[in-house]
Amino acid sequence: MFETHPSRMGHIPEMATSPSAPPIYQTTAFDIPDLDVLAALHSGTAFGHIYTRDSNPNHSALADSIAQLEHAEAGAVFASGMGAIAAVSMTLAGCGDHVIVGRSLYGITLKLMTRLQQQFAVEVSYVDACHPSAVAAAIRPNTKFCLIETISNPLLEVADIAAIATGLGDVPLVVDSTFTTPELIRPLEQGAAIVVHSASKYLNGHGDVMLGVAAGSASHMKAVRSTSSVFGQNANPFESWLTQRGLRTLPLRIRQVCETTTRLAPFLNQHAGVSKVFHPSLVNHGTHATATRLYSTGTDGAIHTGGIVSFVLNGGGKAAVSRFMQLAETIPFSPTLADSRTTVSHPATTSHGFMTKQERAELGITDEMIRLSVGLESFEQLRDELDAVLSQME
Ligand SMILES: *Cc1c(COP(=O)(O)O)cnc(C)c1O
Repeated sequence: MFETHPSRMGHIPEMATSPSAPPIYQTTAFDIPDLDVLAALHSGTAFGHIYTRDSNPNHSALADSIAQLEHAEAGAVFASGMGAIAAVSMTLAGCGDHVIVGRSLYGITLKLMTRLQQQFAVEVSYVDACHPSAVAAAIRPNTKFCLIETISNPLLEVADIAAIATGLGDVPLVVDSTFTTPELIRPLEQGAAIVVHSASKYLNGHGDVMLGVAAGSASHMKAVRSTSSVFGQNANPFESWLTQRGLRTLPLRIRQVCETTTRLAPFLNQHAGVSKVFHPSLVNHGTHATATRLYSTGTDGAIHTGGIVSFVLNGGGKAAVSRFMQLAETIPFSPTLADSRTTVSHPATTSHGFMTKQERAELGITDEMIRLSVGLESFEQLRDELDAVLSQME
């Protein structure tokens, strides 16, 4: 049995004609024939849409596609990845509750946790997600959820989702799988309760959308959608449509990006202009063994964990990073990731810029670290371009 390929997903069947691509339902509301129909829509005995802040055919089509890809009962879409994480967090925890989060989460997710603590009196414990026993040890009677990422940014530490989920018992595990996508891992199959993504990254994959998604049980998604409606975190139809379009080529893009990255990582690792490389496919990476256990190898024989690789220049501080950016004309500095073109970012001033130098040093993030988001260009081209830039810097 084959699974449905994403290229076949997202069609909206209720049209009188049969457009080959789904239309965009750019509408605020939907006309309703009478109060009986409205009552049926409200009670759920009839299916339809009422108001786009609550639901829209483009949302539903994308949410269903994500649910299929994640092997979940249901999905939901949000205005951004942060919208998804905020809606899930505010659904599961409130005043007086406790949550456990990985200490190396995406910077704005950490900021969200501080907000929940300060404004909504949610207690937050920060743990090292590489140690499942430390996660389990943080559980309190009022713990409402635990949030981790499949692979951390920018050190690319791989979390053992199944071990963490087992240690948590009944506490729901929420996993941000932005870096990995359902092509590489399905957190729900490893025991997670909810998976979230910034679809602004790989799921859309073209660097032109802000969108978030979540998937999980029908009851969890119903509750989360209700939160997102009240707090106005829902996506808009056009972004959902664009993401559905990007999703069609997800398997091809992820395979290409992984194959290029597992060749670039060893190339950078042996380069004289680079002092250290962080990628789970390298045997010297701290979580190489976990990655080998959890992730599959491609036809190229290497472990596929995605297209993000970090490397450290041979000294020179931020000035060396600026010089690298000036020389690397074809590889732009862009504070995002998972664009179709290769980009670089600087964790110390972007994703982790809100921390003190000391806090960054404790995590292992230095001023000379550059994060590469590998795009769809060929390995040979990227190797030659990076080699030219690094060689000029020596
Ligand atoms: C980008 C990102 C987010 C936030 O998503 P937005 O769509 O930018 O709001 C959350 N988690 C991870 C891992 C990300 O890379």
